[in-house]
Amino acid sequence: MRRHDSAERLQSLQNATLESIARGEELAAIMTALCERVEALAPEVVCSVVTVDGEFRLRPLAAPSLPRAYGEAVDGTPIGPRVGSCGTAIYRKGPVEVTDIASDPLWEGYRELVLPLGLRACWSSPIAARDGRIVGSFAFYYPEPRGATPFERRIVETCVHLCAIAIEHDEVNARNHRLAYFDTLTGLPNRARFNEAIGQATSRTRIGFGLLLIDIDHLKAVNDTMGHPVGDRLIEAVGSRLAAVAPNGTAYRIGGDEFAVLLPGYDKAGELRGVASAILAAMQTPIDCEGTTIVPSVTIGGAIAGEDGADSVTLRQNADFALYHAKETRRGGYVRFKGGLRTSMIRRIQTIRSVGDALGAGRLIPYYQPIVRLDSGEIRGMEALARLRLDDGRVVAAGEFQDALLDPKLAYRISNLMLPAIAADMAQWRRDGLPIPFVGLNVTSADFQKGDLVQRIVRAFERVQVPLDRLVVEITEQVIMGGRRDGVARTMQGLRERGILVALDDFGTGFASLTHLLDFPVDTIKIDRSFVAGIEGGTRNGAIVEALIGIASRLGIRIVAEGIENEGQARRLAGMGCRLGQGYHYSRPMPAEAVPAFVGSFSRAPSGSLSRPAATAA
Ligand code: GH3
Ligand code: MG
Repeated sequence: MRRHDSAERLQSLQNATLESIARGEELAAIMTALCERVEALAPEVVCSVVTVDGEFRLRPLAAPSLPRAYGEAVDGTPIGPRVGSCGTAIYRKGPVEVTDIASDPLWEGYRELVLPLGLRACWSSPIAARDGRIVGSFAFYYPEPRGATPFERRIVETCVHLCAIAIEHDEVNARNHRLAYFDTLTGLPNRARFNEAIGQATSRTRIGFGLLLIDIDHLKAVNDTMGHPVGDRLIEAVGSRLAAVAPNGTAYRIGGDEFAVLLPGYDKAGELRGVASAILAAMQTPIDCEGTTIVPSVTIGGAIAGEDGADSVTLRQNADFALYHAKETRRGGYVRFKGGLRTSMIRRIQTIRSVGDALGAGRLIPYYQPIVRLDSGEIRGMEALARLRLDDGRVVAAGEFQDALLDPKLAYRISNLMLPAIAADMAQWRRDGLPIPFVGLNVTSADFQKGDLVQRIVRAFERVQVPLDRLVVEITEQVIMGGRRDGVARTMQGLRERGILVALDDFGTGFASLTHLLDFPVDTIKIDRSFVAGIEGGTRNGAIVEALIGIASRLGIRIVAEGIENEGQARRLAGMGCRLGQGYHYSRPMPAEAVPAFVGSFSRAPSGSLSRPAATAA
């Protein structure tokens, strides 16, 4: 081969390799092609490229003329001062030229791998990146014990440089890929990767799969009370536990505290539930975070491809509905999507939105329903009830926006708007000298969760100088049962210490029993309308109500019967010893402006008027 000729061929080898790199071809393929071209240029030579990983172990990359078994034997060998030619060259950061493998001590323990292949000498040159790191080595093996020719040295000089460019280019690509597809906090694949994966999974219709969406419970509270780093630590721990539980390692971090697990082959409800349970169980171990221990809690929604959505968007959305529903009904647990969830969620979201709009536009109005003495007809109080004026002018009751009240933020906003409005109305009635001893206000779990209920009430009422002992806070059994017991009890005690009365609302509809009254003492029990409705016919309801009235009077608790609709019910309740009641029989709820006239007409009516006709306000 003429000198001129070989220089040209070396140049064309270089160009071809650079072109492959620029085209984005796979690193191993580029290196294999390089070795093949080199071997064509220098026919006696067997050429190989190895890289070194983060733990300083050899990773064969290309060696087209060596048997695969050789590469497999070398793979994972730690580099060192006596690890053949390549392992030693990388270790020394300098070339290692072994002219006789059979006798050279560097090949001790490795020579049996190559001698049977007919290879007798090996010259390895380290591949250095621009920053000086050694990223691999480029080696020539010879069939006889010898050193390199000058031409071979020129080839190696060129190739080592090409290898460095190719490997560094690959590193940059890998880093970009990692940044684009992996979350840095947890190391899990991210939302972009998840979107691709679920898209691919749904387009491959043959293989069924399950989808779980997992959201950490109360992360905001953890951030607020223990600091962001602890929140981060919690996210990390949940992520690594998910990755450990998820078969095939298919856990993704798809949002702040939201994760997804894709489960190929899991297309049965029971199988999906099994993984969900395993995830919940994996969360039970506490995490130690800078001196505090926290037990992670997550809520899971699940959906099965096909059954719960054929395309990725629907499937994802339905799993989201299930998660949303689980957050509300089974926090810390698992809910699989059901058809009904979709319609109810859509309706809910619409209601929440329109209630939010109405609140923003100041269209929340308190209405008042009188509470009267059953024997004398005297007005003893009013229950304030939230009403909303809709876009079309219709005024609707809470029943129509019940869904929105389940949203803690809206429920909190509603009581925040109701409090000053009620306080202002009460102040006005006091100035007008209206005889309304008490006003009842409904609160929800959301009001208890924040722990600032007492302060909010005090602020609203002190501003208009209405004494707090005129106020009755009405809580439902759900508030008692749903909240943290110590928090609820503390707030109730705080209210009572301020002289505010506490009433247990809708008694008989929830799960509270009379025994709860020992832990959560109340001043008043309001018997739910469902008991009152069936009270006349000598039914079980009658017996229960009668017993309840008896117990309450012995405990010094007042009873108010709700939903009295006719004279018969009023008489029966009065006969059982119930002294107070409210319902359409006396009056429907009315706006504040109608209250003075109503109170006026009521106080002019003959006392003891059990036969008073139903008022028709509002
Ligand atoms: P829920 O129990 O209903 O899930 O409420 P949550 O407090 O967990 O809040 P939500 O899931 O609605 O919102 C996630 C919160 O997680 C919002 C943000 O404060 C917090 N968060 C999001 N990303 C990070 C993060 O990278 N680190 C930390 N520490 N917090 C984050
Ligand atoms: Mg959360």
